[in-house]
Amino acid sequence: MSSPVDLHSHSTASDGLLTPAALVQLAAERGVRVLALTDHDTVAGLEEAALAAAAAGVLLVPGVELSATWRGQTVHVLGFGIDPCAPDLAALLDLMAGERLRRAEEITRKLERAGLPGAEILRDVLAVTPRPTRTHFARALVKCGAAHSQAAAFERHLGRGRPAAVASHWPALEEVLRCCLAARGVASLAHPLRYRLSAGARRELCADFRQHGGLALEVACGGDSPDRVATAASLAARQGLAGSVGSDFHDPATPWNQPGRLAKLPAPIQPIWLDAAFPARAAEVLAA
Ligand code: MN
Ligand code: MN
Ligand code: MN
Repeated sequence: MSSPVDLHSHSTASDGLLTPAALVQLAAERGVRVLALTDHDTVAGLEEAALAAAAAGVLLVPGVELSATWRGQTVHVLGFGIDPCAPDLAALLDLMAGERLRRAEEITRKLERAGLPGAEILRDVLAVTPRPTRTHFARALVKCGAAHSQAAAFERHLGRGRPAAVASHWPALEEVLRCCLAARGVASLAHPLRYRLSAGARRELCADFRQHGGLALEVACGGDSPDRVATAASLAARQGLAGSVGSDFHDPATPWNQPGRLAKLPAPIQPIWLDAAFPARAAEVLAA
């Protein structure tokens, strides 16, 4: 189960634990030849990753994982081949960085109200990132002894219905796709089965995604069972969407989403990396 293509990964520029260079190195060692770095709402790691990729003989696809709102829910859009300097995308990312800080302050207040050392936790979080994710809070909660694992931190404190749960106000899906396309990116809907939606609503999400310029679904994600891959593939086929594959790598300690550890894209699904809109070198690298 090793794929030469991995189009979903995180570095220390967002909530990953490896620097962009170390991530590229690990991916190269594991046989990945086309890697997209897709940090949450930031392109800050791309330059370092591109330099490391050139040295390691890996093709780095400049990417981003954008948070968006669809019918009140947060969904994630993967943008590939983006121009990180495109003005509309840069403005969107600035807005999102502000939203992350607002949300971090609200989480902090709620942690304090729940009797936890919120200010200390926020200091810890901001010491490692200017763009806090909830994963950063989960790690800080583990560090201060308020939870024994990141999963427990979500279950007890940060998750839906818990004392420090905070609603996020991400831009609308349509606007996120517009900025991604304006930056010459091609878009794939990340982990389409992970959203809490009915089967009908999930199909409507995919149809809206496609209507606003989305090209693919992430059909195979790190740790997906063959059943899940088949379900996502039939969703893509039904909506006329291509497919992407990505480990969603964050942490060297989670074996199920190591770089390249991915199921194959089922045969009838068009790989996004062979689409004319995708950075053309990917097809060349893989054919070589
Ligand atoms: Mn993450
Ligand atoms: Mn995601
Ligand atoms: Mn991700």
